[in-house]
Amino acid sequence: MKRVGIIGGGQLAWMMGDAAKKLGVELIVQTPSKQDPAVSIAQETVFAQVDDAAATEVLAQKCDVITFENEFVNLEALAVLENRGVCFRPRLAALAPLLDKYHQRCYLQALGLPVPRFFALDNTIQPEELQSKIEHLGFPIVLKSRRHGYDGQGTFIIKDWASLEQKLAGINTLYLIEEFVPFERELAVIAARSVAGEVVTYPVVETQQEQQVCRRVIAPAEITVNQAAEIDAIAHTLLNHLQVVGVFGIELFLTTDGRVLVNEIAPRTHNSGHFSLDACETSQFEQHLRAVCGLALGDPALKTPSAVMVNLLGYETSQSDYQSQRQQIAEIPQSYIHWYGKAESRPGRKLGHVTVLLDRQNQDEAIAIARTIESIWYPK
Ligand code: ADP
Repeated sequence: MKRVGIIGGGQLAWMMGDAAKKLGVELIVQTPSKQDPAVSIAQETVFAQVDDAAATEVLAQKCDVITFENEFVNLEALAVLENRGVCFRPRLAALAPLLDKYHQRCYLQALGLPVPRFFALDNTIQPEELQSKIEHLGFPIVLKSRRHGYDGQGTFIIKDWASLEQKLAGINTLYLIEEFVPFERELAVIAARSVAGEVVTYPVVETQQEQQVCRRVIAPAEITVNQAAEIDAIAHTLLNHLQVVGVFGIELFLTTDGRVLVNEIAPRTHNSGHFSLDACETSQFEQHLRAVCGLALGDPALKTPSAVMVNLLGYETSQSDYQSQRQQIAEIPQSYIHWYGKAESRPGRKLGHVTVLLDRQNQDEAIAIARTIESIWYPK
């Protein structure tokens, strides 16, 4: 497999560029705009929205295998292509139970994996039933749109009935309601599975979100050996059951009483694995390409005792390339800055990230470095 088609041309596809060169693989990208990050590293681009299956048919003619950096695709339309012999990795059946958050929770629960308590909110539910289900969970609850949520878009923490009624008035999207987990920490793990069925997992990381958007990642997370083993087992169960080929990101909650719950599965490379570009023997992006090209998987181990990754999020609408802030951040010892080259900055938009390698595992030190980076990046 030498020509890999990628549906989606954002930073996740862009970060496969170096690995593709290293492996001698050509990337052909399907993405709507000339200004999307991965256009610059693609051999060729099919300009179309990611859910445009007619465009994916064109993409298929240009490559040996198709993979995803964005899962908001039209699975039914792609199934026609798969039935005709187009090779998708992961296969579409591995994505199907995951694209709707309610279906995803049901699938995980059926596998026996630990998830928050949840139910679907649709218009068949009677008011009394809704009331009793919500009383069972207790406020606050979390309301999530079942489809197309990312970076906290479509996730709402609801404190009481009045706010729920206000939120639901006049909308007709499908929702999932779940218990609010008063987590002690959020964790994540990147896992990869090869064509031969080998599964490897990266070190579990701690992720820190603000307003539901990932701000920093500390690798490795300070967790017990048992918790690490439990998370490893979750990753194996999931990737083996779905017969995944490629990389998946798994987001988890660690509860105050030490339990692990699965929050969300990303059927692709994930922000929580960006540290692997500079801190691991094999990055998640190389790993994904290795898997989808049918190669043996690489070593996911850290090559440094610890690392901290900080997202550089937009805080204004601007066309600045933030040269001076980037320069200052680059001067931090053992820092690696990745700038996605987006044409425009907007509040909350992921514009780049920085990883700093650390000589020892120390949570306070990692946080202090993250704060330094954020104080350079965000205006006072
Ligand atoms: P998205 O798909 O938009 O990333 P997530 O479901 O991952 O949405 O939620 C984003 C963030 O919102 C999580 O990282 C977490 O901080 C918070 N969150 C989501 N679900 C819950 C929950 N059930 N309890 C507490 N916090 C939650």
